[in-house]
Amino acid sequence: MSATKKMPPTIFVIFGGTGDLNARKLVPALYHLFLDGWLPEQFALIGTGRTELTDEEFQKRMLDGINAFSRTGKADKDQWAKFSPHIVYQLADVKNAGAYQKFGTRIAAYEKAWKAPANVIYYLAVAPEFFPIIAANLAESKLADDSDRTRIVVEKPFGHDLDSSRELNRLLGQIFDERQIYRIDHYLGKETVQNIMAFRFANALLEPLWNRNYIEHVQISVTEQLGVGDRSGYYDGAGAMRDMIQNHLLQLLCLVAMEPPVNFTADEVRNRKVDVLRAMRRFAPEDVRESAVRGQYGPGWMEGQQVPGYRQETDADPKSNTETFAAVKFFVDNWRWQGVPFYVRTGKRMHRSASIITIQFKDTPHNIFPPETAESWQQNRLIISIQPEMSIRLQVQAKRPGLDMMLNTVDMVFDYKGTYTSEAPEAYETLLLDTMLGDQTLFMRGDQVEAAWDLIMPILQSWQGRASQSFPNYSADSWGPELAEALIARDGFHWFTLPLTTNK
Ligand code: NAP
Repeated sequence: MSATKKMPPTIFVIFGGTGDLNARKLVPALYHLFLDGWLPEQFALIGTGRTELTDEEFQKRMLDGINAFSRTGKADKDQWAKFSPHIVYQLADVKNAGAYQKFGTRIAAYEKAWKAPANVIYYLAVAPEFFPIIAANLAESKLADDSDRTRIVVEKPFGHDLDSSRELNRLLGQIFDERQIYRIDHYLGKETVQNIMAFRFANALLEPLWNRNYIEHVQISVTEQLGVGDRSGYYDGAGAMRDMIQNHLLQLLCLVAMEPPVNFTADEVRNRKVDVLRAMRRFAPEDVRESAVRGQYGPGWMEGQQVPGYRQETDADPKSNTETFAAVKFFVDNWRWQGVPFYVRTGKRMHRSASIITIQFKDTPHNIFPPETAESWQQNRLIISIQPEMSIRLQVQAKRPGLDMMLNTVDMVFDYKGTYTSEAPEAYETLLLDTMLGDQTLFMRGDQVEAAWDLIMPILQSWQGRASQSFPNYSADSWGPELAEALIARDGFHWFTLPLTTNK
């Protein structure tokens, strides 16, 4: 769609309007959509929270958010003067059913002024315990009656385990149709992640190679240098498996492993992704030790700064059993992927922040070159770098210039920065626009979320039932526990990282 196509009048009601996510991500994203001409003229953002604020005070907070976090720096004065009148604040405690009438009154006033009905998007940027309460109160207050014009956006985490995700799906399903529910996994909005589908399904070149006959193994690695900091309150009840693998990493795996969809429609794409989750090999309790590794960071040094261990972070439990690192070896039991291991790992306080997918191809069937010609022999690899570098690299063997026949590994690189001059939008820009357009392709469907929980439950149960005796088992600024190296080294591979020079 182009920015000029007419968008219907739209109202965002943002629960958690005074929170971090709204100021850091949502409002900067909406501001950019405004700058790029995507928002309709008849647009309103109603922020809400318990903090007492006037409209002007709330607008000032949002301006501070844009100035601090926008991808293009501080807000332009003239543009902000045009955008800010679209923002208002409504004081409300989400637990108070009576407060919801105020939203109804506000929405009705906008529709009256605009002389047109509006699409209303309720965005739940609040703690997950409030998701059911808000949904129920919206229904009770008759704010969710129009299934064609009402949508609800639910932030992560979607449930804490399989049972709670089912229960949340059930509760939301009593009020909203599935086509109204937008479960966010912001990874799916990232440009490089969306490009996995374009790369796989808009090119004829890859498909013949994209299977167990040519691919040896796949790695998905999402590491971050940051520690938990002051978020122990949330993180201690979650851990790396729930916070990262259940959603982001499994979604990346689905994009790599999915069958070609018949077309690029939301349900078709999501059907193919669910197929992958359903085909993934389940873990028997006795397999967990073989296939999954957990870690927790101890104290150490990062870039010259002394940093605390996880158990010493603000408000952390000094005996916490929560994992800040997880690595798992998965298999997808279908014709395409039988026997191909998918190694995934994620961790905090790691040596480098990087999200990379590596597809390692099998070796040549016969090597015609004598061993002394290869300076570094490397099987072909396709490396999709999601962040910080945004690139797709194909590593191939080539002849080094010179009179003798010497081979080394070179990269054929598609690099966003070098190829395109325009700045990539933030994931939330894509996702918020899609909620307005009613396009659910990049959002999680209920069965997808449940299938992902179902897959990882045996690991979570095993880890919860057995406190780790070795925590902390990796130091800050490392690549995680040694057992994670062993997990992949047992099969003859090692974790791949992009060289630092290409990783900036
Ligand atoms: P936060 O900064 O702690 O904000 C929480 C918000 O909830 C505040 O606006 C607070 O408003 C509101 N709130 C709490 N109790 C309320 C009540 N009884 N009635 C009305 N409002 C209430 O949290 P956050 O970091 O923005 O995260 C919000 C959600 O997004 C969470 O589910 C989180 O997991 C998810 N998320 C956040 C990020 C991020 O970058 N921050 C990223 C991914 C997902 P008052 O204090 O004014 O009442």
